[in-house]
Amino acid sequence: MPLRLSRRSGNILQSEIRAMTGECRRLGGINMAQGVCDLPIPETVLAGARAAMDGGINSYTASEGLPRLRDAIAGKMGRDYGMSVAREEVLVSLGATGAFNTTAQALLDEGDEVLLLEPCYGYHAATLQAIGCAIRTVRLEPPAWALRREVLEQAVGQRTRAIVISNPSNPSGKVFSREELELLADFCEAHDLLLFSDEIYEHFVYDGLRHIPPATLPRLRGRTVTLGGFSKIFSITGWRLGYAIAPAEVIAAAAQFNDLIYVCAPAPLQMGAAEGLLALEDKFYRQVAAEHQAKRDRFCGVLQQVGLEPIVPQGAYYVLADISALPGKDDRQKALALLQRSGVASVPGRAFYHDDGGARLVRFCFAKREAELEEACTRLLQAFQ
Ligand code: PLP
Repeated sequence: MPLRLSRRSGNILQSEIRAMTGECRRLGGINMAQGVCDLPIPETVLAGARAAMDGGINSYTASEGLPRLRDAIAGKMGRDYGMSVAREEVLVSLGATGAFNTTAQALLDEGDEVLLLEPCYGYHAATLQAIGCAIRTVRLEPPAWALRREVLEQAVGQRTRAIVISNPSNPSGKVFSREELELLADFCEAHDLLLFSDEIYEHFVYDGLRHIPPATLPRLRGRTVTLGGFSKIFSITGWRLGYAIAPAEVIAAAAQFNDLIYVCAPAPLQMGAAEGLLALEDKFYRQVAAEHQAKRDRFCGVLQQVGLEPIVPQGAYYVLADISALPGKDDRQKALALLQRSGVASVPGRAFYHDDGGARLVRFCFAKREAELEEACTRLLQAFQ
């Protein structure tokens, strides 16, 4: 007799990204489905981790993280955004994913409602569902993905406790303007909401725009959990290092969950990230942004040429494109058709919506090494000539 799984297990969404990655591997294609940044790891980050291992920093750390890394994260918020953060307001966790899970566990109860902006990052929805929260969606419309108060007001209910944003956003690339953040502050105050702001792509911002952490707005500071991480900027997705910044009492409660679920983030790797934060200068971050802007322009140009109209992103490193002209009855079949025809894998739009909102879309990740990106461009151009 098969074992009965918990009701909770049924809540976890099956990952479209993993499915496409498997199919891509089978067909020997180029995987633009997965959001892995293929740049080399900065030498200071590697050297910092190696030195920590050699120096004996290999045991459990405090569940909140090593003081050196917590201080480096607080220092970075001051340096980059003029935001004063104390060590006690920082939790180091297993990626931004762990930081969201543990702070959400600390702040939300089963049955609480949470607003998500669609298109949205699937892990946000899945994490909330695993906790037992109910999700209410707010649909943003391309190409501007503008935040509108009326749409937020339509979605909010009596039991709504929080709203989650991704800024810059995966998958849309939306970068929230100051006006939109002020609007969000009005809305959060009016309904006494928490704000979870996932800023893992903070350094991937293009066209001279600037990333503004919502917590730098005084009205949002006390009700915001800022989530960040090193997976993308240091190309260390497998190191599992991220953080949350929130009022000290929230961090103390989240640290209990961090302890329970993960014990602590890997000790020597925390030191590597700390050294990276302390040593790398503005030039490094500017160069990463410039390189990705060039890749965005190259790839979006090709998408346009082959008739897969891109919604050009302002940040992060994904692009949503219109695949309605491709054969197939839905986005999944169309994404497969695209993979079979060109050898380039993408994610069907459904991965980012609770309904059929993504039926005309696929998402590509353009954070690829130069040669691989060029190969993807060539394959697309050949397939559609
Ligand atoms: N948040 C967003 C918006 C992401 O797109 C991703 C990865 O794709 C993550 C978090 C995962 O971050 P981490 O590796 O730090 O858990």
